[in-house]
Amino acid sequence: MKLRAHHLLCLPNFIGEGYSDAFTANIAAQKRRLAAEGGFTLTEGADDICAACPHRRGESCVSQDKVSRYDAAVRRLLGLEPGKSYRAAALEERVRAEILEKHRLAEICGDCEWYPLCASLTGERKEGQNT
Ligand code: SF4
Repeated sequence: MKLRAHHLLCLPNFIGEGYSDAFTANIAAQKRRLAAEGGFTLTEGADDICAACPHRRGESCVSQDKVSRYDAAVRRLLGLEPGKSYRAAALEERVRAEILEKHRLAEICGDCEWYPLCASLTGERKEGQNT
């Protein structure tokens, strides 16, 4: 299966919410598929999660600049290369240890509409935020 880098952050925080019923059904299915297949190939364009998204435009996204920035930040932090294949379990552990537990979501995707949900799930607060 194909995954873009920033979806490695979305998957562990997925609790059944998303842009549409079709989108949430697909992300749940892709999460099960990733567990079953045990690995994925990193892509720079639309992936198997984007496939059912109402914001997808072919290989692109209505928020392409933003999602490209998120993808690049995750690739840089984890040293990932597009086109390469990765084991899911090893990457999930690195995402947890190097990004989620270090509360680095704000610097990667703090302007995503889902950031408040992910931040609450991971106990992250933006700098200067008191509550
Ligand atoms: S918003 Fe864009 S990057 Fe996110 S799932 Fe939809 S098409 Fe993919």
